[in-house]
Order: sequence, then C-alpha cells, then structure tokens
Amino acid sequence: MRSTIKRQLIAWVTLITFAAMPWTINAQTQIKYHSNKFSVQDDIKLGRQAAQQAEQQMPLLNDEQVRGYVERVGRRLVTAIPQEFQHPEFQYYFKVVNVRDINAFALPGGPMYVNRGMIEAAKTEGEMAGVMAHEISHVALRHGTAQATKGQKYGTLAAIAGIAGTIATGNAGVGQLAQAPFGVYLLKFSREYETEADVLGAQIMARAGYDPRDLANMFRTLEKQGGGGGGFLSDHPSPSDRYARINREADMLRVTGTAADTREFAQIQNRLRGYQSAPTSAEVQRAGQRYPSGENTGYPNEVPSGRVEYPSSRYQSYSIFNGGVQVSVPSNWRQINDQSSVWFVPEGAYGSTNGQAVFTHGVSFGVGQATNRNLQQATNDLINNLAQGNNNLRTSGGYQRTTMAGRNALWATLTNVNEATGRPESVRLITTQLRNGQLFYMVAVAPQSERNFETAFQNVMRSVKIND
Ligand SMILES: [Zn+2]
Repeated sequence: MRSTIKRQLIAWVTLITFAAMPWTINAQTQIKYHSNKFSVQDDIKLGRQAAQQAEQQMPLLNDEQVRGYVERVGRRLVTAIPQEFQHPEFQYYFKVVNVRDINAFALPGGPMYVNRGMIEAAKTEGEMAGVMAHEISHVALRHGTAQATKGQKYGTLAAIAGIAGTIATGNAGVGQLAQAPFGVYLLKFSREYETEADVLGAQIMARAGYDPRDLANMFRTLEKQGGGGGGFLSDHPSPSDRYARINREADMLRVTGTAADTREFAQIQNRLRGYQSAPTSAEVQRAGQRYPSGENTGYPNEVPSGRVEYPSSRYQSYSIFNGGVQVSVPSNWRQINDQSSVWFVPEGAYGSTNGQAVFTHGVSFGVGQATNRNLQQATNDLINNLAQGNNNLRTSGGYQRTTMAGRNALWATLTNVNEATGRPESVRLITTQLRNGQLFYMVAVAPQSERNFETAFQNVMRSVKIND
C-alpha cells in the first residue's frame, strides 16, 4: 500500500489551560524554555529530514530575487533573537513556496518556508516579517520537540519525524497546508506555545527595527482573507485575542532603528504579480506534483522485503495523536509516523520506492477532514483519495457495518497491487466519525496470500479507544 493519504492528521491537541504569561507593567514578557528531552542536535536532525521531504513535494518559487529578499528579512530577524534563545548550531534559511495559501511554516533547527500567497497578502514588509518572526520564535523556543516531549509518551525520533508549525490559525490556511502533499505533517501547537511565539515574535520584531504591531496587523489581514475559523482550530487563540495580546506586548517594547523597506517590498510584490497566479496547495495536491530530489526519509531507501514475522500474540499499547487515540498492536510491530498517518508495522514490511513510503503489512491510522456528515459518503471520498496514490486500488463488495471504539463504523474491503512487490494485497478500511465530525480511519494491509494477519487486524481494531 502506497501511503499518500494527504489529510490533516493531528485532530487532537491536548487542550492546555491558558495560563497568563507572567509579566509586569512596562517590562517585556519573560519567556522560558519548556522542558525538552530532545537535544538541540535532535531539532537539527528532525528539521533537516522534514525539510528534505517537504522540498520533494512543495513547488518552490525559483526566483532568486524574491528568495534573496525574503532571506535578507529573515536574517535581520534571526540576528535579533534574544541571546538566551540563540542556538549557533541552528541553520536558519528561508525559501518561498509557490502556493497561494496565506501561510508559512518553520521546521526545527531553522528551515523556513514562506508561501508566495503570504507575501502577496501582506500589506507591508512589517506584516510579512511579523509572520516570519512568529515562526522563527517557534524554532528558537524549540517548540516542536518540547511539544513532542509532552505529548508523546512513546516519543522517539522516528515517531515525531516531522514537526512544523504554521502561522495561520483560526482559518483555512492551516487546513489547506496540512492537506497539501507536503512530506511533513503540521503539528498544531498549543495555545500557550502560540502565544509565546507571538510574544517573542513581537520582541524580535522590535529588536530588528520593525514595529511589532505589524505582527498583530497581519492577524487582521489573515482574518479578513481567511474567514472566521472555528472547527478544528477552535482551541487556538482567536485572531482578535492574538491581535490584542501582541499590541499589549508592543506597548512595552521599544523599536530599535527602522528596518522596513517599503520600496523593495513593493517591488517584490510587483514582481510576483508578473507571474501567473500561484496554485492553491489543494490544487498542487490534486495535480500530484512531486519534486524528486533526494530520498524519502524515515524509511530505508529500499523496497520492503515483504518477509515478515507472524504477528506476536503479545500486544503493546500505544497512545497516538497526542493521546487522542489508544491502540494495542502486536509487540513485534513498530510505530512509524508517515506524512499524514501513523503506521504500526513488522520489520521488513516497510520501505520506499520512488521516494514514496510503501508498506506491505500492518495497520495505519489517520484523521481526515470529513467531506460529508454522512459516514458512507465521507468514506467514499476517502477511498477516492486513497486511490489517487494507489492506482490499482479497487473496492470489492460494499460496506459492512461494524463498530470501532464503541461507535458506528464502516468496514470496506479493497484490493490493491502493492507498489513495491507487485503482489496482490488486500486492504481493509474501517472508518468512524469523531465528535467534531472528522473522519477517523484505520487501514489494514497484508498480501492476499497471507491470512495469518487477519486475527491481529481484528484485535487491533477492537483495541481502539478514542478520547475525543
Ligand atoms: Zn505558530
């Protein structure tokens, strides 16, 4: 089974009670690191892997003038990171993604991607710099690995190999980006982390010579273009709360110098208008655009052998999706986080071909934005989506009703020809709905000739617990 389910993965983010940052009148807010069991080198390694993956799949804008400009603004901000959050080992760099969605994201250790749509939507250089300062703050505060420390009980490097944060919250931006065929899934940071990145972002702005209020203004701009929010992002601070919080911080900050170059920003925007309009990330996804470069990461760069041990009769339980789902799997399977789903597979059952992750045996779990309140129709859409990455995928027979995690579920049996081995395989898809309407699914894959996985799949399905 080729794994190309491009859907929003993280449906649950532990709701962290909003704790007001300690601050005193007329003194900028003090920010501290969160506890982090990963090393600075881990941040660098994870970010590098994720960046490689992301760049295989994102259409980068090949315009040295635009990229160079964004890079210069980025440098200025990086230099202004307060001493205690500077990591000389980090390599910040900035690339422009040729998509229309107003967004940006940064990876641990420094790689940063700014969407062309964001540059085009910003009203001033300061607004663009604000988004970048916010993203740089997530990196400098090591939020990706800090969140992984907190949320992943079984956290390993492989289990979190792809951590990114995005600026846009409370609107479609994140959703669209997360559904894009990017080789990283986007971790939704807690409200507390978002506020910290806003506050530190404002401080960095001021130190770099930008008016921190421009970061606040960008949320107004985002809100106008992106709509109201709610839904799966509703646990984030609303743009108007962020606007107020940043302005409050700005009151306490003194801007050093003037960095904003109005003329150059106008020139760059003009230059971008000269191009044909950028596709949305959803369009990029539909076109299945791929940018081959380097190898897929996280998997051995080889085809899976397909020779695997029988599923152990001992089971081990895992907590996935930030504790939103508990599941027990045979103890000789391991967890692998794919771009948009979590797999549990025996050794020998996974690898990559043509830069795509391929699995021969195992189960995966994922969460998708349901296209429809009707479970059957939403499941149809999911199957169509799966079929885009697996040309030989066919449904065989209709749906059966079943239950998973104590709720109504659908069971569909499909057949496929494995991308790597060329052997026929059977694919079971079990879907159910989350309280918020999103679609939760389990996929179980094994070669058609191997029946000994059937019991294991049934046991895994029965073990699923959902805390939504
Ligand atoms: Zn953020």
